[in-house]
Amino acid sequence: MKKSVLFFAAVLCALQGFARNEVSQISVNYPITPVPFTSVKVDDGFWNARLQASRDVTIPLAFRKSEETGRIDNFVRAAHPSADNKLPQYQYDDSDVYKVIEGAAYSLQTYPDKRLERYVDSLITLIVAAQEADGYLYTARTCNPTKIHPGTGKTRWEGEEGGSHELYCFGHLAEAAVAYWQATGKRALLDATIRFADCICREVGPNPGQAMVIPGHQGIELAMVKLYLATGKKEYLDEVRYFIDYRGKTKTKWEYIQSHKPVADQTEVVGHAVRAMYLYSGVADLAALTGDENYIHIIDRLWDNIANNKLYITGGIGATANGEAFGKNYELPNETAYNETCAAIGLTFLNQRLFLLHGESKYIDMLERTLYNGLLSGVSVEGNSFFYPNPLACHGGYERSEWFGCACCPSNICRFIPSLPGYVYAVKDKTVYANLFLSNRATLDVAGKQVVLSQQTGYPYDGDIAFTVEKTGQKAFDLAIRIPGWVKNKPVPSDLYTYADNERPSYEVRVNGQPVKGDEAKGYLHLNRQWKKGDKVSVHFDMPVRTVKANPQVKADNGMVCFERGPIVYCAETADNPKGVFTYALPKRPHVEQTYPTNLFGGKQVGIRVAAQHLSLDGEGYVKTERDHLTLVPYHLWDHRGAKQMKVWFPQGTKEIEAVE
Ligand SMILES: [Zn+2]
Repeated sequence: MKKSVLFFAAVLCALQGFARNEVSQISVNYPITPVPFTSVKVDDGFWNARLQASRDVTIPLAFRKSEETGRIDNFVRAAHPSADNKLPQYQYDDSDVYKVIEGAAYSLQTYPDKRLERYVDSLITLIVAAQEADGYLYTARTCNPTKIHPGTGKTRWEGEEGGSHELYCFGHLAEAAVAYWQATGKRALLDATIRFADCICREVGPNPGQAMVIPGHQGIELAMVKLYLATGKKEYLDEVRYFIDYRGKTKTKWEYIQSHKPVADQTEVVGHAVRAMYLYSGVADLAALTGDENYIHIIDRLWDNIANNKLYITGGIGATANGEAFGKNYELPNETAYNETCAAIGLTFLNQRLFLLHGESKYIDMLERTLYNGLLSGVSVEGNSFFYPNPLACHGGYERSEWFGCACCPSNICRFIPSLPGYVYAVKDKTVYANLFLSNRATLDVAGKQVVLSQQTGYPYDGDIAFTVEKTGQKAFDLAIRIPGWVKNKPVPSDLYTYADNERPSYEVRVNGQPVKGDEAKGYLHLNRQWKKGDKVSVHFDMPVRTVKANPQVKADNGMVCFERGPIVYCAETADNPKGVFTYALPKRPHVEQTYPTNLFGGKQVGIRVAAQHLSLDGEGYVKTERDHLTLVPYHLWDHRGAKQMKVWFPQGTKEIEAVE
């Protein structure tokens, strides 16, 4: 049944393409439909500041940096090719501009801004002018016909598998174009993208006369799906299938780009973490569009490998700077952890898609862990500086930067933050999934009828959430509330991390003040009833401070614990612990002295103070211990008070004291 519905939807789409407002950020062909961010009006104590910083600071800053670093001029030079033209710094510089346009488009959909729109229109004029007559659009090659950029290869596509990023740049162009068309109805960038897509379909593929290469940096797969949904052109979907099915079967066999073996034979996530996440998100889209369960099995298996073996407690992925890559199973070093901000965003894309396929809360649990920790750490509260790697320990000297030569992370933040409200709700038939908890008012389409729901909460620092049913066009529906793993004593959906204390938090749900039991299935509490306007659902999650330990196979965390409260992972910094953070050990049963509200960073946070032993050397060189305490703040807020020491995991007990020195 499911397959035939999917097939029908695909056929319908192929015939006409979806209307502008029907193409959600993610393919509409999943069994579960995400509620678009434009339908979720956020007014939240935690997120307002982040969303506003994205609009007022991050996106304008990224456009300014794109100008200052010549990324915009690259398009001007490509429109007027000359032997005198200098080449772009990096062959993929175009992609940053596209990602910022995508972010601006999302922002415009919620907050119309004529000045911003005029500015983006002016950029689009430059971009379109840089396109070659047959649709090819890649400034690194076009701007100077006599000089070959060292990253590109002599002719089109020749360098693709080695890093030219021609198809990658197209992918970000397509995402920007679809987003801008949705936001404004303007087609100039979309039409240019279609011309480039047609050029790719003509020139890249398995047929005689075509370049048989697969994308050297993935991302085009999920982007081409969006373009397929926007246009209904089936050849775009065929091209995506080619990109995925031929990976591992072309000339370059390389773990770094996940072409070491065919995707169908991949069982372990390896190589460049961002590439892997974009690829598997594309595979999920293809699975949803084709109903082919083989694709689903592939990504299920690979996701299991992340959950069981390769995930940091912060929800980050990519253990090593060497190739910005995954490490071996359980190889999760803290100080040298790479955890690229883009990889956290990519993992969020993958988890959202797997949830839309399977309807299980474990994917959103992981998404939430990444979001509030290893992803959000990638951008400062003010929105004006960024981490590329997000390590879990630091001896000082590492700070967020305003921009990077390779600026993938800031430009990815530009597009991710404004799209956040799109992760809050999802709908399947008459089931409404409440996935993220933040204050908002949402208009939902439930089986063709309108339901308006509001949420009030102080999450993530407070475990009370109040839902109000404000409109019931659809009276009978099933409100499925995610019961986070951390409430059920399971920090992650595997044995990679477990709680080290004896806390047993629980939760309670009331409808109009009366406690209800409800049925729990796949991690959701289902409240299936006849609703009326004004009905209130109050959810209470106990939110004690928890200590977490890692699987003993994670050598880097042996004998150590870290602290969490709700979805927030904590760290200690020198700013609160002037003796440094590397000279502390915790007692066998860490004692939380207090939690306390802080407003250090322009918002309300909860800090933690725990009893600890401070270790130092006495005059004769013997280790001296004294009773002390450690103060901890949310990990995502680290490095707002200078580039000093930071640490997430702390040794515990006597054995580890020796290791501390
Ligand atoms: Zn990045």
